[in-house]
Amino acid sequence: MVQPVQIEGVAGKLLLERVCMDNVKTDGVLAGESSKEPQASQGAERQSSKKDRNLITRRRFLCLFGLAGAGAAVASHLPNMSAVAADGETGGGPRRLRRWCMVVDLRRCDGCVGLNKPPRCTEACIMSHYVPDGMEWVQVYRTEINAHSGGTYFFPLHCQQCENPPCTNVCPVGATFATPEGPILIDQQRCIGCRMCMAACPYDRRFFNWGEPNQPPQAKAMAYHPETQQPAYKGTVMKCDMCPERGRAGEVPYCVEGCPRGVIYYGDLEEDIATNGREIIKISSYLARNHAYRYKEHLGTQPRVYFIPGYGEDAGRNAYDPRDSRRKELQWPRGT
Ligand code: SF4
Ligand code: SF4
Ligand code: SF4
Repeated sequence: MVQPVQIEGVAGKLLLERVCMDNVKTDGVLAGESSKEPQASQGAERQSSKKDRNLITRRRFLCLFGLAGAGAAVASHLPNMSAVAADGETGGGPRRLRRWCMVVDLRRCDGCVGLNKPPRCTEACIMSHYVPDGMEWVQVYRTEINAHSGGTYFFPLHCQQCENPPCTNVCPVGATFATPEGPILIDQQRCIGCRMCMAACPYDRRFFNWGEPNQPPQAKAMAYHPETQQPAYKGTVMKCDMCPERGRAGEVPYCVEGCPRGVIYYGDLEEDIATNGREIIKISSYLARNHAYRYKEHLGTQPRVYFIPGYGEDAGRNAYDPRDSRRKELQWPRGT
């Protein structure tokens, strides 16, 4: 079902008018080129320079999101989180509240089978977050388009960062909670391992540490924080945290950075702008024009992740090709 976002962010509109409106295209893409592959007739040199121009630099990301001097407001009632708020770049100046979201363009995702590699998004998250063995915080499913007509598509699934999250409602000790910026976090130092939240999540996006997590020494040496979930603790739940610390630092999440096809956009619903690291979109018009939907939205969970329907056709994938099912196995980084 089509569910465009209607955001009337004044700051976002002003920013868009000032920075980007000259380049607005009808499909909501603001800057950079379409993700489609360059024409074969173009020379390698030209492709390379175009690619360079299309990359969104950290400076440009900061500019577009107005993050220079903007910091982040987080849950002040939680000791760990107020420490984050104090780390803002403003030195005490006014702070803008972000509403982080994601847009996953399924027209470009081929599950990385075209590269003959495991999904790059999943692997980037695992490697960067020292994700314990067996967990895939972003998991790429191969799914049937239609039981009658056949055909398949690949479906990267993060925690949907629900605005009405069933997982937080059932936690008996308040260990999992929503932050004002949107991401649903888990305080593993408070989690008692009852797994009620896992049962409540309709997206199956929570994972349990049954044994001692197999992590490298650098993960075990980290100072614990719910935004990094490091180090991991036995008998606690973990999941995708949407990398809010990356957004605040002017970076996109590791899974966005790792995707070779620009499938995943990360942005701010307040500013109405998102980027996949190559191009920038005006979220509301991009969703409306491309028939966006939210997964299982009939449940009333109000996910912050939007999907553009497709089967990898923009990446040259044939939805009816059985060879596309051969997904490479992931390898988790070994611990000590
Ligand atoms: S989202 Fe990108 S990295 Fe992930 S499977 Fe699809 S094409 Fe590969
Ligand atoms: S997807 Fe599941 S774990 Fe994530 S916020 Fe929604 S209910 Fe909670
Ligand atoms: S947003 Fe961050 S935590 Fe979530 S899957 Fe991507 S890299 Fe992993």
